[in-house]
Amino acid sequence: MEKQDTSYKTKLLTTQKLMEAWRENLSKRNLPSDTEYTIPIVVHVVWNTAAEKISVAQVESEIPVINAAYNRQNADTVNTPAPFKSIAANMHITFCLASTDPNGNPTNGIVYKQTSAAGFYYGFNTVKYPSLGGDTVWDVNRYLNIWVCNLQGGALGFSEFPTSPLNNTFGSVILYQAFGTTGTLLVPYNLGGTAAHEIGHLLNLHHLWGDDGGLCPGQNGGQDDGAADTPPEGNSNSDTYTNFGNSNGATYGCPTFPYTDNCSSTYPGIMFNNYMEYTDDSCYNLFTNDQKSIAMAALHVPLAKLITSNTCGPTGINEYSFTNGISISPNPSSGQFTIHFAQELPDDYTIDIYSVLGEKIYSTTTRSSTEINMSSYTNGIYLLRISGNNVASVKKIILSK
Ligand code: ZN
Ligand code: CA
Repeated sequence: MEKQDTSYKTKLLTTQKLMEAWRENLSKRNLPSDTEYTIPIVVHVVWNTAAEKISVAQVESEIPVINAAYNRQNADTVNTPAPFKSIAANMHITFCLASTDPNGNPTNGIVYKQTSAAGFYYGFNTVKYPSLGGDTVWDVNRYLNIWVCNLQGGALGFSEFPTSPLNNTFGSVILYQAFGTTGTLLVPYNLGGTAAHEIGHLLNLHHLWGDDGGLCPGQNGGQDDGAADTPPEGNSNSDTYTNFGNSNGATYGCPTFPYTDNCSSTYPGIMFNNYMEYTDDSCYNLFTNDQKSIAMAALHVPLAKLITSNTCGPTGINEYSFTNGISISPNPSSGQFTIHFAQELPDDYTIDIYSVLGEKIYSTTTRSSTEINMSSYTNGIYLLRISGNNVASVKKIILSK
């Protein structure tokens, strides 16, 4: 980035300082820890061979995975080692495939672009420019851009850290065989973990080992990930203490807990289950509280426009002040839940429930508190939209049977 844009490093460092200042004042902000964030995604499928033209179903299969990860709804939270359970965070971030394109037209949030390029290389942004065989970015302040393509050179993905203002290349690039959970995928990267990891970088999360070549935080030249509650780590997960320094670099897999290294040499060792590790998709199961505060600072400083984007949901959604008069209980629910209204709704209001993929699954014109049964639907996150007279409010419903 620095080579391609001489002002980039200054911008990045300035933004990091702004985010750190925001985090330091977090306790004074009275920000409810359960504030919900909704972020629209556009997926650019840039394909050359038929195999690279991944299906709509494959793209859509990624969304429930990242939503589970960022709402601590992943089924494998039970695998989070006991010492780390109390610091595991619910980020309260829900992603949707954008339903409104930059011109205001309906979209499924997926763009297919045929390319003559046989592949794209790690660290280069060619996939983001039509003149270089890629597909044009959508407004980075309204959409989280993900390019899925034949990423060559062995990486599963790469991302940019957020800056103020955002670069026009802000987003993630992910290998087509490591995106989603259906289709022809590379084992063990076939469970959607790569996007969960890459989006972490877009939210300013760093690798737990600090990308410092194996040093420990506090050593001369050693780097931390900036999160105090993630244990210090030398390199990636599988560099054992004895092998450390063998120049093999980051290695992979899923160790058995507890796993120690040169920087965390005693129990409970390193946090290899963290989404910001290089472990297998099946090994990932947590973000931490400090990672959450880092991500919140990113959402409120460089990404402040993105969290007010109105391109999620069927026709674009605007949060409106009557939100506070609406509550849902229980939530999460095993099927039956009640929507409570502080006041009766005006006549022209409707209540709809959508899947995060934009499919309407329920609609009612009831004016007062009402019970809804969703037990026939699959577990996951749904969006309850109450709309009328040019205003709309969206609430998240979590179905967990
Ligand atoms: Zn990474
Ligand atoms: Ca740390």
